[in-house]
Amino acid sequence: MQKRGFLLILSGPSGAGKNTVLDATRDCCPDLQYSVSATTRPRRPLEQEGVDYFFLTETEFRQRIEAGEFLEWAEFCGHLYGTPLAYVNECLEQGQVVVMDIDIAGARQVQAKMPEAIFVFLLPPSMSELEHRLRTRSTETDEAIRHRLGKALEELRAGIDYDYVIQNDEVAQSAAKLKSIIMAERCRVRRSEYFEQLKDIVGETGRKMTDDESTANRGPVDKG
Ligand code: 5GP
Repeated sequence: MQKRGFLLILSGPSGAGKNTVLDATRDCCPDLQYSVSATTRPRRPLEQEGVDYFFLTETEFRQRIEAGEFLEWAEFCGHLYGTPLAYVNECLEQGQVVVMDIDIAGARQVQAKMPEAIFVFLLPPSMSELEHRLRTRSTETDEAIRHRLGKALEELRAGIDYDYVIQNDEVAQSAAKLKSIIMAERCRVRRSEYFEQLKDIVGETGRKMTDDESTANRGPVDKG
């Protein structure tokens, strides 16, 4: 039987570098699946439909909420973001590791529904660097940047409840740490091939013992 995969949640303040770090894992971990979220946020110039996000109107988004199509969803700085459930389930059934870049409110929903997921928090090198990154990437208005910086403090406080933390001083190093976490999580006994094999062996021994016991218990009448 195919072993079920697992979810890896990556959260961190806007500008911490989640996308850049995830991009740096793509080459070396070809078997990772990256969940593509839906959002009502306007598309940025370099973003592609179905690659960076599925861009929806608010009405479309709310219809999908009603239809139960999201594993989780949340409002972030005035826009809606959600993870399509069907893709995640399909990948997990195929035994794959699914990486999700979602905010802390979404992460809490995933934890309630799938507590076996792994939660990784990405820290910016410092608050001043975070502000610098948000300002220099020029994808948001001044007001949106202020909103995202305010939200960052709330997010930083929530990081304490995550399983792992990575300070993103240097992208290659952060990606290497993330890959190590994935590798270690794959080696957990309950997720490993060994666990499945052991269950088979124990199962066979268990069946054999039951057969032997039933033969032994048959007694002289049956033997005769
Ligand atoms: P951005 O607008 O910068 O692409 O994303 C803003 C925030 O939304 C980021 O913190 C990102 O992690 C979060 N986000 C992206 N996709 C999802 C999602 O599907 N669900 C939730 N809850 N948050 C998301």
